[in-house]
Amino acid sequence: MPSYVIPEKCDGCKALDKTACQYICPNDLMVLNKDLMKAFNQAPEMCWECYSCVKICPTQAVEVRGYADFCPLGASVTPMRSTDAIMWTVKFRNGMLKRFKFPIRTTPEGKAVPEGGYATHDDLDNQLLATEPESCGMDTLPPVK
Ligand code: SF4
Ligand code: SF4
Repeated sequence: MPSYVIPEKCDGCKALDKTACQYICPNDLMVLNKDLMKAFNQAPEMCWECYSCVKICPTQAVEVRGYADFCPLGASVTPMRSTDAIMWTVKFRNGMLKRFKFPIRTTPEGKAVPEGGYATHDDLDNQLLATEPESCGMDTLPPVK
């Protein structure tokens, strides 16, 4: 089931230029109704249920009804982010609650090295993919024009 916004919980990210859910959605699905100051998913059929908007929303206003392998028996899941972990609260239909805390990073906030130290800046700028050209069985590949 695609994401949906619980209107009572959404504060429109307090009128920032771009809301958190708009910023994070890889499909640009979230829009803000500026009259109501409520966000909504403008094309639910295009949502791939990645949970990014669910995790970034500061007011826990976005929900995704997860598939049975992730949320058996119709449970709802609500994340609470901190700087180094996400606490997931799972609420089952009979009211039972379970909480799981997962670490989400191995470096202090703002300290991650984008390429992980495995590539030089030149590697990032060239046209080859990782392991090319050797993995193509060639010494060189022609440049893309
Ligand atoms: Fe509303 Fe949450 Fe989106 Fe902000 S991130 S606009 S609070 S749904
Ligand atoms: Fe976009 Fe992912 Fe949220 Fe769907 S679940 S609206 S794809 S951020």
